[in-house]
Amino acid sequence: MDSVRPSRFTETGAARGIRISFEFFPPKTAEMEQSLWEAIARLAPLQPNFVSVTYGAGGSTRERTHATVKRMLAETMLTPAAHLTCVAATSAEVDAVIEAYAQAGVRHVVALRGDPSGGIGERYAPHPGGYRNAADLVGGIKRIADIEVSVSAYPEKHPDSATVEADIDMLKAKVEAGASRAITQFFFENSVYFRYLERVRASGIDIPIVPGILPVQNFKQTKNFASRTGATVPDWLARRFDGLDDDPATRKLIAATVAAEQVLDLVDHGVTDFHFYTMNRADLVYAICHLLGLRPGKEHGARLAPTPIETQQA
Ligand SMILES: Cc1cc2nc3c(=O)[nH]c(=O)nc-3n(C[C@H](O)[C@H](O)[C@H](O)COP(=O)(O)OP(=O)(O)OC[C@H]3O[C@@H](n4cnc5c(N)ncnc54)[C@H](O)[C@@H]3O)c2cc1C
Repeated sequence: MDSVRPSRFTETGAARGIRISFEFFPPKTAEMEQSLWEAIARLAPLQPNFVSVTYGAGGSTRERTHATVKRMLAETMLTPAAHLTCVAATSAEVDAVIEAYAQAGVRHVVALRGDPSGGIGERYAPHPGGYRNAADLVGGIKRIADIEVSVSAYPEKHPDSATVEADIDMLKAKVEAGASRAITQFFFENSVYFRYLERVRASGIDIPIVPGILPVQNFKQTKNFASRTGATVPDWLARRFDGLDDDPATRKLIAATVAAEQVLDLVDHGVTDFHFYTMNRADLVYAICHLLGLRPGKEHGARLAPTPIETQQA
């Protein structure tokens, strides 16, 4: 008899220990702010483990990242994780951001080196008075506050790295400095993730290496983004979106199918934790979470917290 694939389950995602997190970026305009909060309102009832908010290149979104995280703390029951980079800043400046996060009630930071100030592909030079790299930054955060720290991981190697071994050495340094979770750059071939995971485990690293899943909302943008981050866009993926430039409805169905195929294959191989790059849009991610067996909760943590007006009226 055929064995049943783990992705063909009938229990809820929660019962099977599925844990999800969502990544958002801080909005630039009032319109973007509105669509971000619509996405948050739709995804929050799925009760993610945490939701993260990115930090623009070189700290360019420092205030907006902080404002978004603060609003999440004030108006939702979500656990925000604020991203932080150490590029182009003194350690005193970075420490002030960590302290401000801690004072605002942030208990989780995603610590990153950041891209070189001259842009991706330029040689990275640490700020003379700054943290040297992401591992150094993790140590700084841990010295300042009792904050959970997640870091990045690169199944296909970071473009600056000479080898995958160098990447894994850096990951090890980040773990030794106190990181307790790594979130991967997006990838489209699961075999790449599993091969990387094997090497990470062989090097003695035992923290969760959570796959970062990017639903392809826009193929051209994804390809462009991938070329800058060292992620491979396989030919078969390009072929799937081929000829659909003027057909958004089919594109969306294909995007959902591609992401579902990837995520369910990961489930079949025993993966339980997923980090979704939402691009501030809910629909594809919501559908994939539904396939994972997750349903909107009706109780604690399941909805946006009452606004001050609702509280007064209660
Ligand atoms: C989950 C995730 C979230 C991210 N969020 C953000 C964000 O919010 N804001 C943002 O600006 N960027 C973000 N990035 C991108 C990240 O900042 C860039 O990839 C950056 O170039 C590397 O930072 P890191 O902390 O990932 O790298 P690290 O872990 O510090 O390094 C990655 C690899 O590069 C090698 N390396 C580092 N420095 C050098 C050097 N000088 N010479 C040679 N090799 C070197 C390391 O050895 C390591 O192998 C994110 C990436 C991921 C995967």
